[in-house]
Amino acid sequence: MAFTTFSGGIHPPENKRLSEGKAFSNLSVPQLCYIPLQQHVGKPARPIVEAGEIVREGQLIGLAEGYISANVHASVPGKVVEVAEHPTVYSKRGMCVTIEAQGSFSTSGKPLEAVPWESMSGLELLNRVAEAGVVGLGGAAFPTQVKLHPPRNRKIEALIINGSECEPYLTVDDMLMQSFPGEIVEGVRITLKILGITTAFIGVENNKPHAIASLRNKLAEIKPAENIQVVALKAKYPQGAEKQLIYSLTRREVPSGGLPMDAATVVQNVGTIFAVREAVALGKPLFERYITVTGPCVKNPGNYKVRLGSRISDVIEECGGLVAEPAKIIMGGPMCGTALDSMDIPVVKGTSGILLLGREEARPADYLPCIRCGRCVAVCPAGLVPCDMVNTIEKGRLDLVEPSHPFDCIMCGACTYVCPSRRPLNHFIKLAQEKLRRRQKE
Ligand code: SF4
Ligand code: SF4
Repeated sequence: MAFTTFSGGIHPPENKRLSEGKAFSNLSVPQLCYIPLQQHVGKPARPIVEAGEIVREGQLIGLAEGYISANVHASVPGKVVEVAEHPTVYSKRGMCVTIEAQGSFSTSGKPLEAVPWESMSGLELLNRVAEAGVVGLGGAAFPTQVKLHPPRNRKIEALIINGSECEPYLTVDDMLMQSFPGEIVEGVRITLKILGITTAFIGVENNKPHAIASLRNKLAEIKPAENIQVVALKAKYPQGAEKQLIYSLTRREVPSGGLPMDAATVVQNVGTIFAVREAVALGKPLFERYITVTGPCVKNPGNYKVRLGSRISDVIEECGGLVAEPAKIIMGGPMCGTALDSMDIPVVKGTSGILLLGREEARPADYLPCIRCGRCVAVCPAGLVPCDMVNTIEKGRLDLVEPSHPFDCIMCGACTYVCPSRRPLNHFIKLAQEKLRRRQKE
């Protein structure tokens, strides 16, 4: 059977076996939570608590500042120890609210009362998403209320749900779809109501047959009024990238420099849809999430529910500790994740996984000159010529880079992965993007 897909892309070893099929378990609450006020794209939230204050679980502690921002809530009940800088994944030292856990839990372990959301307006539902501080949980961390509120003059026809989880090692979305199909379908229905449309496609790679069956069975059971389809996609990296996913599912192309709305679509990760459902149907703020903790260096790899603000070191200890010294610690997957230089960094909303690689799996930092083999060109899903672009960047000729469309690079890392000279092509392109953006602002 031919599965729907896009052109380009790669087939790295999946390495999902370490955590695949492992049911979620809850990690213990850490004694100290370091909750960053910047867990999203946009302006950091403004702290509204002070040292010494007692806070409830789920209490608003950081208020969204401006249009592109997100609320931040207390992950644990307890005492605010300080509001100060601490290492985070987004900056060497970002402002965090540190809470020492104490007192009783108002939400966890208790059945939450279902909210009759079907009688609410789309705007009311959207406000609940914003209040709960929901952001893209696939890793991008873009505030969800902004994505679900496209300009009035833009027609949206379909909601695209990313359940592809094409990153090697990660299995959290697979387990979410297997474990909570009813919640995900409800989240899709809520999101459709917010967007004022009735068509959704849930794209899942064909290496996740249990997730596909679980969602399809749930749809067959509840027969929603909306048109929600689960589509099996060819397992190929980066199947979950927005533009590639839209093309695979609808055969629509997002133009160069464009957004999903240019193809009349809105894309959300399946984890985000789960969080939307919790925010709207249960009134629960986003203060915990499911993640995969994996790699050959951790004793008990698996899928876990973690409080936001838990330090990586606390999470690893809860997962049985280390069996070997990691050569590389990555937040997210090995292709698109962020390499960390400290185990003190806390889990944030965009943390889909923690990956601890040994020396054998970690890519060496040194690289060689380009041998013009063309492999990077063959795999680039954005149709770019990474070797030429990077050669120009290395020569410092930023003025000549712009016509090569560096901003169409989706940072998938496929070019870097196949390069026999181990050239960190996407990192060069990212640096060029940052420099060009700075120049444009000047
Ligand atoms: S140039 Fe960008 S989009 Fe193309 S393969 Fe490399 S990282 Fe991916
Ligand atoms: S894959 Fe590497 S060596 Fe081959 S053309 Fe691209 S940059 Fe050059």
